Amino acid sequence: MSELRELYQETILEHSRKPRNFGELPSASHKAEGYNPLCGDHYTIFVNLKDGAIDDIRFNGAGCAISKASASMMTQSLKGKTESEAEEIFSRFHDLVTGQQNGTDNLGKLAVFAGVSEFPLRVKCAALAWHALRAALRGDQQAISTE
Ligand code: ZN
Repeated sequence: MSELRELYQETILEHSRKPRNFGELPSASHKAEGYNPLCGDHYTIFVNLKDGAIDDIRFNGAGCAISKASASMMTQSLKGKTESEAEEIFSRFHDLVTGQQNGTDNLGKLAVFAGVSEFPLRVKCAALAWHALRAALRGDQQAISTE
């Protein structure tokens, strides 16, 4: 577990310093905004769906290291996935950060977020971008809030 914790800190710091797929996506077919008032995290997720799959995905905004790293790693994990695959990964990731799942099967690098389940206030940071993504895919125009 201590190894996973070290990896967790390293990975989160690295992604928060150098977020992947960061910026606007002018050609986005779907987008949604997410806000976590408890921490001040605020992001917009941009998705371009093509033939039912995530052809491109980007995010911008600002927030704490956990929220930014989670958004960054989410974009990496979901690029090229179909909508239903994305839903499936979302639900496994959600179970992981809320401590409802013991295994980290098929989550790849996202497994480092298992450590978040020990810090209930941080769960909202880790899940924010994912909730916004789901809102974007469903076509919800209203900004989502974790509160
Ligand atoms: Zn946060």
